[in-house]
Amino acid sequence: MSGESWKEIPIGGVIEKAGNSKEYKTGSWRSNRPIHVPDKCIHCMICWIVCPDCAVKAKDGNFSHFDYDYCKGCGNCAARCPKDAIVMKTELEAQKEDEK
Ligand code: SF4
Ligand code: SF4
Repeated sequence: MSGESWKEIPIGGVIEKAGNSKEYKTGSWRSNRPIHVPDKCIHCMICWIVCPDCAVKAKDGNFSHFDYDYCKGCGNCAARCPKDAIVMKTELEAQKEDEK
């Protein structure tokens, strides 16, 4: 989808194909990033329930990781986490830490 000319966009931006949400990597326009703090996490999975983008991934019933391709940084998970086990950082801040 990215790189598409405006001439190829359907009139009115109508979504013509059902079930295409995987094609829209909402993470590309994220300005804030959730960071998991494993030591505080009790694996209650509330973050998994409240994420509107299914970007919280579970393994064997436990928190596994964030799928940053689809996380749009809304902060729902961090706001609902009962243990403050998710910290929101600006994308710029998080990218600088990735580079260290
Ligand atoms: S809501 Fe918080 S404590 Fe619960 S699984 Fe998610 S990160 Fe862990
Ligand atoms: S910040 Fe929003 S989109 Fe990203 S994992 Fe948390 S709830 Fe999901």
